[in-house]
Amino acid sequence: MTHSLSSSPAGLLTLSHEGYILEANKTFQEELGYKPKELIGEHLEKLCRPGAKMIFHSYFFPNINMYGVVKELFVKLKNKEGTEVPFILNARQRPVEELQQIDVVLLPMKRRMEYEQELRQTKLQLEETIREKETALDQLKNIYQEIQAKQETLAVLNSELLIAANTDNLTGIANRKHLLELLADYNSLSQSTGESLSVLLIDIDYFKKVNDVYGHDAGDEVLISLATFLQQFSRPGQLVGRLGGEEFLMLLPNVDKTLSLAVGQRLKELVEQAQWETVGSLTVSIGAATLIPKDSQKELIKKADLALYYSKENGRNQATHYDDIHKD
Ligand code: GH3
Ligand code: MG
Ligand code: MG
Repeated sequence: MTHSLSSSPAGLLTLSHEGYILEANKTFQEELGYKPKELIGEHLEKLCRPGAKMIFHSYFFPNINMYGVVKELFVKLKNKEGTEVPFILNARQRPVEELQQIDVVLLPMKRRMEYEQELRQTKLQLEETIREKETALDQLKNIYQEIQAKQETLAVLNSELLIAANTDNLTGIANRKHLLELLADYNSLSQSTGESLSVLLIDIDYFKKVNDVYGHDAGDEVLISLATFLQQFSRPGQLVGRLGGEEFLMLLPNVDKTLSLAVGQRLKELVEQAQWETVGSLTVSIGAATLIPKDSQKELIKKADLALYYSKENGRNQATHYDDIHKD
């Protein structure tokens, strides 16, 4: 064998027709850890474990005998230490005088297999990472849905809380806090637009007697009935609330002095004309006031209170506008 063939990048073998090694290049012997010429004269089976032996008997030699060639056969051969080294081999039969010899080219596959193994490993890791990512994404979706549900619950609770904070416990209409907040809003709106704003302060006459005669619970029922009555009486955009005790406040946006007094008088008449459960009849006294520029909502209520006082002083079951107190 020439020097270049002996140290060629591929392992080279020449086998006798029976499978004895006639020639083995340096590359092949070194690959299996043998010294030069150590394998010459040995049978190929010396390099085979049972599995490889079977491949040679059942595939390699039958193909050589029938077709004269073997292509890309994957086989593992033992090195000197007994460890199997994977090879891919091509072989071709060649007549030499009366005999047949077999030339074999063997390329070690170890690196490639390691590389394939690494690739498989990387693919598995990648699949695992994708699975983990998908799980994390699912968990994130669940958490997001939970947060959304909680936010919705919170929004409902908040609006319930807001309603509760603005509602009078007994009558279910706006409470004092809410009334004063809204009055402040209406006030600044009227101050900036110049639209009129009036209020009616409504107080039940001799309510103490209702409690004294029919009991506190009956008194409560009267307060609830009057609250409902006032709500039905009010127009869209007008607001009725309970200031406290048996005193109610009605906010009348876009209502001037004349109209507010007319509304007050109509209201006191309707209360007087209505039939009230338990007590039968009921009257209210009303104080009306209309906003003038730079009035605060406190001053507006104060004026309505003075007008109410005037109604009470003048025999009750009356509506008085604050502006008329001065004219008298
Ligand atoms: P006036 O005609 O001067 O307004 O006389 P009044 O009796 O209506 O007024 P007064 O201020 O003397 O009495 C108000 C009464 O209202 C006294 C109080 O016990 C009663 N009252 C206040 N809040 C409630 C309530 O929530 N329920 C009941 N049943 N009574 C209440
Ligand atoms: Mg009263
Ligand atoms: Mg009162």
